Amino acid sequence: MREWSNWSGLESARPERVVQPRDVGEVVAEVERARAERRTVKMVGTGHSFTAISAPEHTMLTPGGMTGLLSVDREAMTATAWAGTPLKVLNAELERLGLSLHNMGDIAEQTLAGATSTGTHGTGGIAAGLAAQLAGLELVTGTGELLRAGPEENPEVFAAARVGLGALGVLTTLTFRVEPSFLLEAREQPMSWAEALGSFDQMAAESHHVDMYWFPHTDRMLTKRNDRLDADLSEAEPVGRLRGWLDDEFLSNTLFGWLTAGANHAPRVIPSMNRVSARVLGARTYSDVAHRVFTSPRRVVFREMEYAVPREAGLDVLREARRLVDSSGLRISFPVEIRVAPADDIALSTAAGRDSLYLAFHTHRDADHRAYFALLEPMLRAHEGRPHWGKVHTLTAADLAPVYPRFEEFLALRDRLDPDRVFANDYLRRVLGD
Ligand SMILES: Cc1cc2nc3c(=O)[nH]c(=O)nc-3n(C[C@H](O)[C@H](O)[C@H](O)COP(=O)(O)OP(=O)(O)OC[C@H]3O[C@@H](n4cnc5c(N)ncnc54)[C@H](O)[C@@H]3O)c2cc1C
Repeated sequence: MREWSNWSGLESARPERVVQPRDVGEVVAEVERARAERRTVKMVGTGHSFTAISAPEHTMLTPGGMTGLLSVDREAMTATAWAGTPLKVLNAELERLGLSLHNMGDIAEQTLAGATSTGTHGTGGIAAGLAAQLAGLELVTGTGELLRAGPEENPEVFAAARVGLGALGVLTTLTFRVEPSFLLEAREQPMSWAEALGSFDQMAAESHHVDMYWFPHTDRMLTKRNDRLDADLSEAEPVGRLRGWLDDEFLSNTLFGWLTAGANHAPRVIPSMNRVSARVLGARTYSDVAHRVFTSPRRVVFREMEYAVPREAGLDVLREARRLVDSSGLRISFPVEIRVAPADDIALSTAAGRDSLYLAFHTHRDADHRAYFALLEPMLRAHEGRPHWGKVHTLTAADLAPVYPRFEEFLALRDRLDPDRVFANDYLRRVLGD
């Protein structure tokens, strides 16, 4: 028996069997075995979900035996990889071939299947979510059938399985739309709360990718605008090694880790600490190959809740979140991250059918996140908020159905592809029903 636990340390499980399949046939065999024995089987990623979405109950499949880039179609501009490939490996392989994904989130540690299955997203662009950049997929269903899906082939499966929560099958390969490598210029700039909110819509309209961080108990925001440069890759002007180490490693990880860990024992200092944190991260501009600008190391372990709300209500929801935090007496040491996404056409994507604004709330691993998240969650729900599938939330299927117009369609497909609930676990029973 081997213990499984997630990155944040919030969830753990003890699967009865652990298998690392090396090909599709071995995945099929494990699914058929689980079905015959009326047990469950769960392919895990790297455990970067804060929820127990990937918690295995009986058999745990690990992704390490099926990783790497499989093929590139330069005419169609697509790349196909094993679904268990870490995002950082795909990024490196694509860079070597002069190619890139269009957009990505804050880190690149996750597996491709784990990231897409929970609706992992970045900000802005023509597609913020990784799943919305898929052109095709292959999965082994709960009856052991290997299915291929894309816009033309099994389109109803494609519509749901791109953000499938691990409930529809074991993804074996994923095909992404890619584009030639490009440079991104990042402009990081501290602003006051009023200036940042006042200019947010304009920044989001003018820049390809806009991200903001509000430091609770302060009036300070850090804004980050990423724009595509029409320049050769050799013209990149990355952050110098020393400045990069100082900003991204020392200030954003090492020092931040010490401060937030220390603040757990002296919450009174948090407002002053946040004011200092907001000031030391000064303005800077740099450019680099896209994936190195989108993603950065996150070594301080935290807990996170993130909700997508309709884009037009988003800044008012943020203002309401600030009012709640200010009047709560809680002391929050981690910034609140604000991002946007264009609507997509995936049944359970948090951006399904509507332009969205994402609000992400974090606490240090050793701080109790429950009071903070409980303070905000009812307000986010009142604004038709949809929780990130991989981040802490308390919603059930009955709560989720009203905010997803295609919820029933997803459940019907689950009945078809996994009639015996081979892929079930407690999290899926809660958010989708038995
Ligand atoms: C530090 C940090 C930063 C993050 N940044 C962002 C961000 O910027 N944007 C964002 O949206 N999210 C972000 N996340 C959340 C993260 O991207 C998601 O939780 C993602 O699901 C993690 O991928 P994973 O490989 O760890 O998958 P896991 O968490 O292990 O699994 C997630 C789900 O995928 C399923 N799954 C895995 N492999 C397969 C497969 N082959 N077939 C079918 N199902 C499969 C699992 O069963 C489970 O249901 C972050 C998380 C952390 C810890």
